[in-house]
Amino acid sequence: MSEEFVLPIRDDLIGMHAYGAPQLDVAARLNVNENPYSVPESLARAMGDAVADIASGLNRYPDRDAVALRAALCGYIATEAGVDVGVEQVWAANGSNEVMHQLFLAFGGPGRLAVTFDPTYSMYPEYARDTFTEFATYPRQADFGIDVPGACDVIEQRRPSIVILTSPNNPTGTALSLADVEAITIKAGTAGAIVIVDEAYAEFRRDNVDSACTLLSRHPNLIVTRTMSKAFALAGARLGYAIAANAGVVSALMLVRLPYHLSAVTQAVATTALAHSDVLQARVAQVREERDAMAMWLTQEGFDVADSDANFLLFGHFSDRHDVWQGLLDRGVLIRETGPEGWLRVTVGTPEENGMFRRALLQVLGRQGEDA
Ligand SMILES: *Cc1c(COP(=O)(O)O)cnc(C)c1O
Repeated sequence: MSEEFVLPIRDDLIGMHAYGAPQLDVAARLNVNENPYSVPESLARAMGDAVADIASGLNRYPDRDAVALRAALCGYIATEAGVDVGVEQVWAANGSNEVMHQLFLAFGGPGRLAVTFDPTYSMYPEYARDTFTEFATYPRQADFGIDVPGACDVIEQRRPSIVILTSPNNPTGTALSLADVEAITIKAGTAGAIVIVDEAYAEFRRDNVDSACTLLSRHPNLIVTRTMSKAFALAGARLGYAIAANAGVVSALMLVRLPYHLSAVTQAVATTALAHSDVLQARVAQVREERDAMAMWLTQEGFDVADSDANFLLFGHFSDRHDVWQGLLDRGVLIRETGPEGWLRVTVGTPEENGMFRRALLQVLGRQGEDA
């Protein structure tokens, strides 16, 4: 061939880079907020049995509407958040990323706007791009909270169809007060917008912090999204879900989802994990304790640490954060260079991994010899 073939890729995708946090094989992988504990042996066996039980039926398409799994999710939300919802209000897909993508397909689109408040999760602009939805972010306050009157003005003036509130937020770890979530939800409701509260880290919240699920019965425009990737230690299984105040949301998502989007294997694995959620909760409690201890240690070492209701901590400030990140990586500790300039984010790992992180950090900053 003499002439080079030019792929007819969409103009707006030309020159873009694919999402890619490094997946490196190092001693302590503390960069993508995974649960550091592997799936307990008893649960791993139960999942294997559940898959074996359905395997001979894989010649058939799965339950398109994943009804058994969604019923199990209702039971989990009743226990975890103390909120009763019906199957018709719950939707599941391959990770909360897919749920969010479907929400953009159904409620965004050309001529429509989604707004959120940053620093926040880096994937939202991609869902907007994929669905030709306009996307706008407004800055959070110094403590990473949201200025509620300011947010209400934005909603009034810009008339979005989607408002995303991430709580606990990534990469800051900070949770919004329910009063703030409710005030923004009410304003959005009067302006005809849905509010998606992304609660990917809900199970790690501290004791006095409530889930936005408790607001669902009062606000028909509210949707809470969650995931089994973090608290359930199932990032590899890909299962996320939405709980909607309004069953019409679920009907809308059924219009845009791909046929048979959730495999029978995924449905069986997730349903089994939900039946074992008590085993996993004990591990969540351990991570929360380690997080609080690590936050205290970082504070004692003189760092600024954002309040965290998640399984990671944002800490700073560094004049050259890349240098610190690289120094940690050289010592086998991979964290994330993200968030506002000067800050770094570390996922809470096992006690051993956290010890490695503390020692490596002191070494990088030339403070070795001190206790870690
Ligand atoms: C990790 C994370 C998710 C979860 O994504 P999955 O697709 O469920 O793995 C969603 N939102 C935020 C803010 C996250 O950090």
